[in-house]
Amino acid sequence: MDWIIGAAGACLVAGAAYAKRSLSASGAIAALIMGTVYYGAGDLFWFGLLLLFFVTSSALSKVKQAEKRQAEQMYEKSGRRDAVQVLANGGIGMLLCLANYIWPAPVWFGLFVGVMATVTADTWATEWGSLSRRPPRSIVTGKPLPAGTSGGVSLRGSLAAIVGAGMIGTAGSVLLLWMDNGPDWPLWAWIPAGAIAGTFGAFVDSYLGATVQVMYRCPSCGKSVESRIHCGTSTVRYRGWPLMNNDAVNLLSSAAGGALALAVMILAGRWFG
Ligand SMILES: [Zn+2]
Repeated sequence: MDWIIGAAGACLVAGAAYAKRSLSASGAIAALIMGTVYYGAGDLFWFGLLLLFFVTSSALSKVKQAEKRQAEQMYEKSGRRDAVQVLANGGIGMLLCLANYIWPAPVWFGLFVGVMATVTADTWATEWGSLSRRPPRSIVTGKPLPAGTSGGVSLRGSLAAIVGAGMIGTAGSVLLLWMDNGPDWPLWAWIPAGAIAGTFGAFVDSYLGATVQVMYRCPSCGKSVESRIHCGTSTVRYRGWPLMNNDAVNLLSSAAGGALALAVMILAGRWFG
């Protein structure tokens, strides 16, 4: 029965996102599968955090879209997320949800909140930071970078990361209180765990983006881009590891955020439990 409710809920959300052009067709199918699993194998805690991430990120990406259009064009990103992007953001969470379904244990909850806090912090920082009038600075060298560049950080983006990550932690705490289930850790501790882990994960994302993430140059217009095609021609790699694209960086930073949230919760349980 939970699987049917999950499929119906996911169908509603994915359909609306597709209609609003937040998701491509493949992205909508991936979101449908993901939402069904989050509710069917999980419950409102898992589904609720995914939904909160998804709705707030989609809404933020629509804010002042015209102002962002210029920066986005440079990076060949459209507002519509495809299946790969959907899986890069929600895929680890889905695996954790399934793991908890098969082998129920507190560890999955800790990792999950950290992962969702990281993807939310990262998305909020990117969307909010790109509205900054001042250019972001490289997390490694401190030099100004064009807006939207991987590896750039700004004060505005960093504040957005903390708020987004804290929101996930708070929502996790409220949902667990309401569901009256989950790990035997102090409920309030999810708030700092989410805020700290998500912010850390977003900075790991920026750091990897500035160091090992693959970047290409467009031979036609000369711009530095993240995609392999630009101006209708193949781009040339000039730095980074060939397989370390933006999605791989997202996966690694999510793992880092998940591990930190789990560590914070275990410590909180030991000290205050
Ligand atoms: Zn070009």
